[in-house]
Amino acid sequence: MEQLLQVDNLVTQFRTAKGKLKAVRGISFSVKAEETLCIVGESGCGKSITSLSIMGLLPSNGEISQGSIRLGNEELVGKSDERLREFRGNKMSMIFQEPMTALNPVFTIGFQLREPLRIHKNMTKKEATAKSIDILTKVGISSPEKMLNQYPHELSGGMRQRVMIGMALACEPSLLIADEPTTALDVTIQAQILDLIDTLKSEMGMGVVFVTHDMGVVAEVADRVMVMYAGEVVEVGTVDELFSNPGHPYTKGLLAAVPNVDDVDQDLSIIPGSMPSLDDQITGCRFHSRCPYAMDVCKEKTPPSFKVSGTQEVKCWLQEVDNNGKSTTSSGSG
Ligand code: SF4
Ligand code: MG
Repeated sequence: MEQLLQVDNLVTQFRTAKGKLKAVRGISFSVKAEETLCIVGESGCGKSITSLSIMGLLPSNGEISQGSIRLGNEELVGKSDERLREFRGNKMSMIFQEPMTALNPVFTIGFQLREPLRIHKNMTKKEATAKSIDILTKVGISSPEKMLNQYPHELSGGMRQRVMIGMALACEPSLLIADEPTTALDVTIQAQILDLIDTLKSEMGMGVVFVTHDMGVVAEVADRVMVMYAGEVVEVGTVDELFSNPGHPYTKGLLAAVPNVDDVDQDLSIIPGSMPSLDDQITGCRFHSRCPYAMDVCKEKTPPSFKVSGTQEVKCWLQEVDNNGKSTTSSGSG
């Protein structure tokens, strides 16, 4: 399948009172068309910052200081805000956990759906209206004509989520980024939304980056999984590899932390200890203070990413012991 998104050695940092702090520390990954890559990890691991870096939607004190993000043949790093705006909603779009982030309370749903189609696709009002009805039908709205005249506050949370997905998909982007899009929804609607994204993905041939901390959701939607910890990618592999043969102690911890479906705010706190903060100076493996397998080398030297298979890589010294003699690739960062 066609390579869609290629991220290389991405470093994203924030200007703070304590100086420049790295939230994303030299990560690389790719997504193909019709593929769903799940990014998992605890709050603050850099998964949302990675999404926002791709979208060009970092907060004003954030910046990409290194690396490359290619969407198709286009390099996104260094593009002007104006050019990035053209990409957003057209070639790439994002859905958020909280739909009101994306919906404007003072405009009707119809206006908000039509506008991007008129801007990005040069549609007439009539064409854009027809397309909006089509999109709302696709996302499972039963009376789309009526909804065009409604305002966001008139809709239930589940309906707003569907509308936001509709808005994100209206221009048929090649890349969809979904950041915890179902966390705030009840289980039934969550399942419907996940199905919906999956169906639309194959219908439209999109690549999907799905950010979540819920391994249950990962099992359901992922083709491949990328596990992040403290700004780094610690493991990547197919969903089967990750679930049947997790290589990194952190991944094992995530899989052991059975999520409680009643507690939407729970964030994998079952792994003892907490993630280092951005300004912690750590030598060696960034997980070593929490790792039950930590060895002397772990405190001194940053582990490279070891290839476990053609598709699985694990950033952990245990793999060197396991695979002694196998070729390794370093993923940089220190
Ligand atoms: Fe644990 Fe060492 Fe592997 Fe880090 S490198 S995850 S500390 S065993
Ligand atoms: Mg987040």
